[in-house]
Amino acid sequence: MAAPLRLLGRLAVVTGGGSGIGRAVAQRLAREGAAVAVVDLNDSAANETVQTLSSDQLGHEHAAFVADVSASENVERLMNQIQSRFSRPPCISVNSAGVTMDEFLLRQTEEAFDLVLKVNLKGTFLITQAVARALVASGTTRGSIINIGSIVGKVGNVGQTNYAASKAGVEALTKTAAKELARYGIRCNTVLPGFIDTPMTEKVPQKVLDKFAGMIPLGRLGNPSDVADVCAFLASDDSGYITGASIEVTGGVFL
Ligand code: NAP
Repeated sequence: MAAPLRLLGRLAVVTGGGSGIGRAVAQRLAREGAAVAVVDLNDSAANETVQTLSSDQLGHEHAAFVADVSASENVERLMNQIQSRFSRPPCISVNSAGVTMDEFLLRQTEEAFDLVLKVNLKGTFLITQAVARALVASGTTRGSIINIGSIVGKVGNVGQTNYAASKAGVEALTKTAAKELARYGIRCNTVLPGFIDTPMTEKVPQKVLDKFAGMIPLGRLGNPSDVADVCAFLASDDSGYITGASIEVTGGVFL
């Protein structure tokens, strides 16, 4: 079924857009009519995503950008590059860049803890702040910031103390941003995926994946497009009265 064109004429930035959920989100937003700035650490992955995006009836172009979301100077440069390329700030931001470095608490290193917090939580902070600042400066009355958290941030998961803490932080940050930015017409929401079939979950041992799959009431791992569908809804005016919310996309799993 063809996607509706709810985002015609809008500009979206998608971080982590070179892979997995971020790539599916970029594809879905483009199919709904948005121009998309695809951001990733990996230049060729971001460009590959752009090659897969359909241009809309308005002839919108999409573009790839390289940035480390956890480095403030990278994020500042990124926002300048996006604004000079598209002559406006993005009114949709989906922050999907994220990493895991799984280890049991008793063996977790300080370095692995810091790195996961730096990319997942600080990166979300820097992107949220940069997009919000640009939108407020432009005098916007409409924006949608969507941060990708995780169900693990709510319920914890063995081997993921650093990751669970970072994702709990993403949810709290987003709820607070929602309260502060509502007066500018900027909505902020978190999507909490469960187990989604992407390169990130390819690192998880098959026997662990099988165990989790057996716990999912809908009977399967999620696809990146399952998450992208919800992001497109949150980006559109169909969710105009939703802010500060966390939406679980888990197939019903409750760990
Ligand atoms: P993925 O396929 O590994 O994609 C993550 C992307 O983020 C990769 O392209 C990665 O680039 C990029 N990235 C990593 N660090 C970055 C940085 N510092 N700056 C910019 N880009 C960076 O993983 P995914 O499964 O799609 O995950 C997307 C998001 O969903 C993450 O936030 C993840 O925590 C969350 N999530 C995933 C699941 C799941 O089951 N898959 C469940 C819950 C939540 P490189 O490949 O070059 O490192």
